[in-house]
Amino acid sequence: MKNVIAVANQKGGVGKTTTTVNLGVALTLMGKKVCLIDFDPQANLSSYLGYDDKAGTPNINEMMAMMAQCGRIDDKGKSCIIHNEKNNIDYVPSDINLSSAEFYLSQALARESVLKRVLSADYFGGYDYILIDCLPSLGVLNMNALTAANGVIIPVQPQKFAMDGLRWLTDIISQVKSTVNPSLGIMGILPTMVDNTTVMSRETEAALREIYGDTVFENRISRSVDAAYSSQTGKSLCLETNAKHTKLGEEYKALAEEVVKRCIL
Ligand code: ATP
Ligand code: MG
Repeated sequence: MKNVIAVANQKGGVGKTTTTVNLGVALTLMGKKVCLIDFDPQANLSSYLGYDDKAGTPNINEMMAMMAQCGRIDDKGKSCIIHNEKNNIDYVPSDINLSSAEFYLSQALARESVLKRVLSADYFGGYDYILIDCLPSLGVLNMNALTAANGVIIPVQPQKFAMDGLRWLTDIISQVKSTVNPSLGIMGILPTMVDNTTVMSRETEAALREIYGDTVFENRISRSVDAAYSSQTGKSLCLETNAKHTKLGEEYKALAEEVVKRCIL
């Protein structure tokens, strides 16, 4: 059985997409088979990986709609997985039409388990890790991500208001676990964009570690302009050879080691 990890936080701009891409690439460098799912209508992960929407292949919205409406995926399903050469990683793209999912899912049977059923197709079976890049909300799409996953990584930017909403998210994860998905657990809270030069960043990270203890990853991701540079070039931070760009890459590689250790499977 594969590890399905949702990278989730309803707060926007905390590093979910950057973490999904770079943790995914770091896991492939450890020899793991990884597929990334862009589960956000903003499609930032798809554009990070240079997705060309003229390719005509089905995206995650079409897979979700087909499963919700027909209860199965037809033979074209496998072509939703795209291989990104530059980063040597597989992913399923998204587009703005995924924002219509709220509508068609409202009429679907067992609407929170549609993604789980999509990911149960044979062609997802060969992956060691499936990482789901969630959108910043707590609606029906993220309920689908939490129902499909067995682990959640919560990126948190240690700054004012970071804690607001975190308790709410952890409560929702507990509710999903006790109702529809008993195998769900928080894999870890990940401090991102950490800036040790500011008191706010240091104090908020310390408070996170005091409140959430070992649930917070030992590893953290520093703030660096290299993150934006990586998304512009479409090349993971973990693959940069130029010394200038290695710090975040090394941090994501260390995180990948910790994720592998924390995986029960
Ligand atoms: P959304 O909620 O909109 O989906 P997100 O949580 O996925 O956002 P990202 O898109 O990964 O967040 O990051 C938001 C912005 O912060 C991007 O411009 C990204 O390049 C930048 N960023 C991500 N990680 C870091 C970092 N470690 N240091 C500095 N900037 C970063
Ligand atoms: Mg994002």
